[in-house]
Amino acid sequence: MEQQEPIYDLIGIGTGPFNLSLAALLDDIEEVDALFFEQKSAFEWHPGMLIEGTKMQVPFLADLVTMADPTNPYSFLNYISKHDRMYQFYFLQRLDIPRREYNDYCRWVADQLSSCRFGKRVTGIRHVKDNGDTFEVDVLDIETGNSALYRTRNLVMGTGSVPSMPQSFQGLPETDVFHTADFLINKDACLNKKSITVVGSGQSAAETFRDLLQEQRRYGFQLDWITRSPGFSSMEESKLSLEHFSPDYVNYFYSLPQEQKDEIFATQGLYYKGISNHTVNDIYNLLYEYSVGGEELPVGLQVLTEVRDVHAKADGGYELDCYHYQKGKKYTHETDVIIAATGYKPYVPDFVHYMEDFLVWDDQGRYEVTEDYRLKKNADTPNEIFVHSGISHTHGVGSTNLGLSIYRNKLIINQLTGREVFPLSEKNIFQSFSVQ
Ligand SMILES: Cc1cc2nc3c(=O)[nH]c(=O)nc-3n(C[C@H](O)[C@H](O)[C@H](O)COP(=O)(O)OP(=O)(O)OC[C@H]3O[C@@H](n4cnc5c(N)ncnc54)[C@H](O)[C@@H]3O)c2cc1C
Repeated sequence: MEQQEPIYDLIGIGTGPFNLSLAALLDDIEEVDALFFEQKSAFEWHPGMLIEGTKMQVPFLADLVTMADPTNPYSFLNYISKHDRMYQFYFLQRLDIPRREYNDYCRWVADQLSSCRFGKRVTGIRHVKDNGDTFEVDVLDIETGNSALYRTRNLVMGTGSVPSMPQSFQGLPETDVFHTADFLINKDACLNKKSITVVGSGQSAAETFRDLLQEQRRYGFQLDWITRSPGFSSMEESKLSLEHFSPDYVNYFYSLPQEQKDEIFATQGLYYKGISNHTVNDIYNLLYEYSVGGEELPVGLQVLTEVRDVHAKADGGYELDCYHYQKGKKYTHETDVIIAATGYKPYVPDFVHYMEDFLVWDDQGRYEVTEDYRLKKNADTPNEIFVHSGISHTHGVGSTNLGLSIYRNKLIINQLTGREVFPLSEKNIFQSFSVQ
């Protein structure tokens, strides 16, 4: 294995928006020598869900840098300016930019950052004490298959999440039974099938259903949407509810005992799991429009129903074992394509679990995290592992919210430099979550 000489101050594992924001903010901070490794060959933000017409669920101000430093050259407005789109953006009069544009903006930033290395997968990390405390990081070059060893004083994990697919949907042909994360890759092939069923009722399910509904009249397939939830519920989007995605709420949540955090988090699904009002409205409007004149639509929307199992049929297509749990009724549903809108789960690479003795774990096997986003450790060492991923149990509903990534990165940078590069304000919202 090739050994790289310099000892870095920081190595980032994964380059999604959270670590890309950190890389952008560190770009002009010379005292931190950082490298970020991403296994994909270029920056890509949920490519299977960059559906035309979808938009960001946070204002463009939650770009990679603006909320830390609006004068930073990697701001979204500078991207707009450099692409000569200022008047068009001005007349657009929107805070919620298209999702495809956010991806393009992030790629524009990533392409300018020499600290970001693509096509490189981190395959192992170890803490070593010889020659001064450092982490050793094994990095595989995906194209050449060669591995290299890097050394760093600190790490930052930004490995994000991966699609979560129920066991019963697995092992079937991936062009027929796939996760929404792969929707655009499979979309064209499934349009010519006779029937398509979307299972689940979050934002991804709704966006997929809306997109297929727009195609359905042209292609003529039967389109069904099945969910276990009691309704196709809207996300909590009132301005005061949005204050749950503030540093103030994160700090309040962090201060609670772990058992209470787990209880509260379990009740907060609609802050991040429901469907945006505008998407529900689009779907309703389309259904209304299509049904003018009493036309019967080949469309079904079914709530309160669990899909318990899936079988491939001998003559093609699939049979879903369904259970309406309020009526206590079992039935089967047939379809040619199943799209699982069954969410995502945090991705914590195995090599983190191999650091069993170095880190502190809770009684449910989750790592413990300090308030300022360091993994708690047993070892007596100045080296830190900062973390963006898998922290909803400690930091709550805002853990994956892009509007909070800057705040977290400001905290991380202040710790790395040992000075207040970015001041942090204590009171950012109108309401109080705690009492004096
Ligand atoms: C479709 C969709 C839309 C969303 N829209 C919004 C929104 O509008 N607003 C909002 O606030 N949130 C949104 N979210 C939630 C959240 O902001 C995103 O999931 C965001 O991508 C999280 O960023 P991240 O950097 O933590 O991780 P990710 O974007 O998941 O990136 C992690 C990266 O790490 C890489 N990686 C993993 N392991 C390794 C390794 N060992 N070596 C090298 N690389 C590795 C992966 O390849 C990946 O590119 C959305 C989520 C989804 C799924």
